[in-house]
Amino acid sequence: MFIFKYSRCFLYYEGKMTCKGICIRHKAQKPVGSGRYVSGQKRCQICEIFIKWDGLWCPCCGYRLRTKPRNLKYKAKLRARRVKEIEPILVAAPVA
Ligand SMILES: [Zn+2]
Ligand SMILES: [Zn+2]
Repeated sequence: MFIFKYSRCFLYYEGKMTCKGICIRHKAQKPVGSGRYVSGQKRCQICEIFIKWDGLWCPCCGYRLRTKPRNLKYKAKLRARRVKEIEPILVAAPVA
C-alpha cells in the first residue's frame, strides 16, 4: 500500500505525466494461460497498470502505451533503483 502510494509521488517529482485515475475504468484482468500483451492488453508505465484500450495512447495520462514486454533485465534493474530511492521516505513517514 505505502510503496504504491509513494512510487506515484516519485514519478510526479520527476516531472512526468501523472495518473488521473481514469485508467482504473479500463483495467484489464490477468488473462489465464497467456500473456497480457498476447491478449491485446497494453501497459501504461505512468499509471503502472494494464488496460484494455484500442488506442496507442493512455486515455488517462496521455502517455504512449506499451504493447510489447520490455527487456526483463532492464525492468528488474529499474525496479531496484526505484525502491532504493523511495526507501528513505518510507522509513521517515511513521516517525513524522
Ligand atoms: Zn491512470
Ligand atoms: Zn496512463
